[in-house]
Amino acid sequence: MANRIQMKNPIAELDGDEMTRVLWELVKEKLLLPYVDLKTEYYDLGILNREATNDEVTVKSAEAIKRLGVGVKCATITSNAARKTEYKLQNLFPSPNATIRAILDGTVFRKPITVSCVKPSVSTWKKPIVIGRHAYGDVYKAAEMRIPGAGKVEIVYTPADGSAAQRITVADMKAGGIVQGIHNLDESIKSFARACFLYAINEKLPVWFATKDTISKIYDGRFKELFNMVYETEFKEQCAAAGISYFYTLIDDAVARVVKGDGGFLWACKNYDGDVMSDMIASAAGSLAMMTSVLVSPSGVFEYEAAHGTVQQHYYRWQKGEKTSTNPIALIFAWTGALAKRAELDNTPELAAFAKKLEAATLKTVEEGDMTGDLALLASPAPAQRLDSWEFTDAITKRL
Ligand code: NAP
Ligand code: MG
Repeated sequence: MANRIQMKNPIAELDGDEMTRVLWELVKEKLLLPYVDLKTEYYDLGILNREATNDEVTVKSAEAIKRLGVGVKCATITSNAARKTEYKLQNLFPSPNATIRAILDGTVFRKPITVSCVKPSVSTWKKPIVIGRHAYGDVYKAAEMRIPGAGKVEIVYTPADGSAAQRITVADMKAGGIVQGIHNLDESIKSFARACFLYAINEKLPVWFATKDTISKIYDGRFKELFNMVYETEFKEQCAAAGISYFYTLIDDAVARVVKGDGGFLWACKNYDGDVMSDMIASAAGSLAMMTSVLVSPSGVFEYEAAHGTVQQHYYRWQKGEKTSTNPIALIFAWTGALAKRAELDNTPELAAFAKKLEAATLKTVEEGDMTGDLALLASPAPAQRLDSWEFTDAITKRL
């Protein structure tokens, strides 16, 4: 191992839970450590260590990502009542992803990994569609009320400086019904736009953004205005230099174009649109195990992970001694994404080339018919056999 590729600066490594923790070790041992002298700052976000550190480790790991500029994260259990019993926990902590996202103020981008033998359900799609979802406000931070009977519903703004309140009528209701109040913040919308343009320039993808501003002239109108302002004042030249365009349209027009188009763009979505459309894209593109996810902060910090969870059911089978056929591809791509970003920031072309080679070897392995069970179900032609995770990583090593 004397002539392994050297790294200049470390990346933050966030270990996780269950089957993905098992695969994390496997990927490092078989596909990374033989070739790269890995430099990482290691944080164990496994559920028991989060418990033991009173969740301090999650905060520290987010701070490390901020400091180092690049992080890679394994899937983690979000604790709930069932997990509390299962792992004998004293506390229920928030989802690590939510904690990290709050500290980095980031936007999450999800991108499918495509292989030639798995065709998307939408036959016109030739290139992946990446979703960037605004993760603040709107219906996810709504105030709702059930209205029991006739009466007036108003929105009242009471300025903090003591000046006169402003009010408008939502509805003069003749009978009972429902109301909802939602909000967003100028700064959050601008951060979202910045993260989208940073990601798009990095990936050389055109940006689409859509709202319903013809109907919602003030609310969605403000989204359109701020997104456009960030583009015009901060990113227009960089986009031109990267050869990418910015396209705004109405959300229904965008949906129609997405289904008819050939893909290959970043679709910036408001919170609810992103929630719904990312599941549509993921399922139309194939398997959850073929979806990568990257958190981009407006200050230019990147955290890479697989979009899937800890694959709990496979883990229980692995604990009983079964060699499960769990797909490690999204985890591999989380590592290659992080290593390539590190290489770009440090100007280490050897490391960048390695990340590319590992991705190419992984895709080639699947395209030549060696794959795990989830893909074997979708692939055409169907492979002769399905490999377990260990056989699959060995098959990648052969190509690497
Ligand atoms: P999941 O772990 O994504 O698994 C759901 C199902 O998808 C699996 O049972 C499996 O289907 C299939 N699948 C997912 N990844 C796969 C892979 N790499 N290879 C093969 N099949 C794969 O979601 P979950 O069961 O809802 O959640 C389990 C735990 O993960 C929960 O504790 C949750 O809190 C956590 N979670 C964490 C994150 C994160 O850290 N980013 C995200 C989501 C969920 P089959 O069983 O049919 O094979
Ligand atoms: Mg959803």
